[in-house]
Amino acid sequence: MTKSDISLPRIALLATGGTIAGQAGDASKTAGYKAGVVGVDKLLDAVPALTQVAQIHAEQVASIDSKDMSTALWLTLAARVNALLEEDDIDGVVITHGTDTLEETAYLLHLTVKSEKPVVLTAAMRPSTALSADGPLNLLNAVTLAAHDGAAGQGVLVAFNNQIHSARDVTKTSTYAVDAFRTPEFGALGWVQDGRVDFQRGVVRRHTVGSQFDLPAALPAVEIVTSYAGASRTAIDAFVAAGVKGLVVAGTGNGSIHAALQQALADAVKQGVAVVRSSRVGSGHVMRNGAAPDDALGSVSAGTLNPYKARVLLMLSIAAGITDATALQQLFDTY
Ligand code: ASP
Repeated sequence: MTKSDISLPRIALLATGGTIAGQAGDASKTAGYKAGVVGVDKLLDAVPALTQVAQIHAEQVASIDSKDMSTALWLTLAARVNALLEEDDIDGVVITHGTDTLEETAYLLHLTVKSEKPVVLTAAMRPSTALSADGPLNLLNAVTLAAHDGAAGQGVLVAFNNQIHSARDVTKTSTYAVDAFRTPEFGALGWVQDGRVDFQRGVVRRHTVGSQFDLPAALPAVEIVTSYAGASRTAIDAFVAAGVKGLVVAGTGNGSIHAALQQALADAVKQGVAVVRSSRVGSGHVMRNGAAPDDALGSVSAGTLNPYKARVLLMLSIAAGITDATALQQLFDTY
């Protein structure tokens, strides 16, 4: 450590893989590459300016394409984040991740990290070997954000393409663009650019130290089904037969559900499966008893959570022993 390092914030960098650690045989390739193969040391080497922003403690937690994220790795990652944040000599955590399931991991951490210290996820849409790779600048911005006092107490954040998003609301909205992450309806929390951080609004719903959820030993089986023209009840019946504990339905419009699915979901509820109604639309809220009769069905409205995040909250709720529809609705109205 040099003298000038001493006052810099101490940030733990946890690498998990993804396109930010992706490698292609040819610099012109932005789609044909292997994700999660470049180690955390190489990610750091690509951003010399990081030494001016923070003292970095780097760990390779995993080397995966995030499409293959597992609930077991979620729990390992969340436990490691909590352990690091308990240490006095760690001021914040940055996680590099694949973009595919980043929003799910981020929301799981948002509900289970027990610290006000900043936690920031970042990623890239282009592999590390690409011309105009976006990973290095995203990483620099993520560390800049994690080192910033204003990021404390905001829950888990996502730094991407100069924007700051809340883990609760951010979602991937493009298959290829470098501005792939958006917060539909509400917009970004702020921006981070050239070493400056500016928050335009805060996070209202409960998270991190305000969350009642502890990390469980395992997460229950919760699956997602989608409603569409001509949908059948086959998948729901198969999931119920397989012993699923919860189902999230990605409904049409305001969480409306094809009649065949609605009957299957009502039957699932009778067998003790918790059912949450969300929307496949990508923005807007699902109103309780709006486009489907939650009271009669015994289902719960996901509000503004997308199906993938509704699944995270439902898994944590069931793991905490909360399965009653009224109690679950209260949680979905709170988090
Ligand atoms: N499939 C990659 C992943 O999620 C995509 C990415 O990181 O952009 O790991």
